[in-house]
Amino acid sequence: MMDGKGIPRAVIERLPRYFRYLGDLRDNHVERISSQDLSVLMQVTASQIRQDLNHFGGFGQQGYGYNVNFLYTEISKILGLDKKHRLILIGAGNLGQALVNYVTFETRGFNIRGIFDIDPKKQGLLIRNIPVLPMEELQSFIRDNDIDIAVLTVPKSEAVGIAELLVKYGIRGIWNFAHTDLNVPKDVVTVNVHLYDSLLNLSYQINEREE
Ligand code: NAD
Repeated sequence: MMDGKGIPRAVIERLPRYFRYLGDLRDNHVERISSQDLSVLMQVTASQIRQDLNHFGGFGQQGYGYNVNFLYTEISKILGLDKKHRLILIGAGNLGQALVNYVTFETRGFNIRGIFDIDPKKQGLLIRNIPVLPMEELQSFIRDNDIDIAVLTVPKSEAVGIAELLVKYGIRGIWNFAHTDLNVPKDVVTVNVHLYDSLLNLSYQINEREE
């Protein structure tokens, strides 16, 4: 599978990991790194790194390696992080509150502007100083605050209906934590998150080692 620019989907899926490692190197004031050293650090082959990064014009120089800051900035542009995103979260329960309290999103350009919940007991509550609003305000809030992404942490049975509303109100991307597929038009992006998948992966690997 390729994306719109002919870059294999598998490469795109590896980019956040490059981005994370380069961010750590940058935070530690490392200016440049060879593909060999990056390969040891990330536990992937140097040739994979070169192949992956060649899709974006390389960024490496013979005998010099990669300029960490430059590569970090270029990858951040590819990931769309040079633009700020305005988010709302719907479903201020256990998971929703934990996500709002996780401040790192903000420092990476994902600004949570509003929180919505159907439960009148939750409305008015402040989570990290952001008030929980009633669903009746959803449409005007999205419009007035130029919101592009919605985080969905509602029960599975509610998710499809809410996603339909979000599409109607002009949301461009849905980060969906409810364990159900959403039915949205092609110009709206959804990414489903399943924490349990990674737990199953862990279980599989423990099992494999025991055998
Ligand atoms: P929760 O019951 O604590 O929270 C759900 C919240 O959604 C509640 O505050 C409720 O009032 C609100 N809500 C219900 N219907 C609504 C509607 N129509 N409009 C607006 N708000 C509504 O549940 P939780 O533990 O936070 O889990 C939330 C969702 O995330 C569930 O679907 C759960 O299965 C899922 N979940 C996913 C993962 C994952 O890895 N993807 C992990 C944990 C939980």
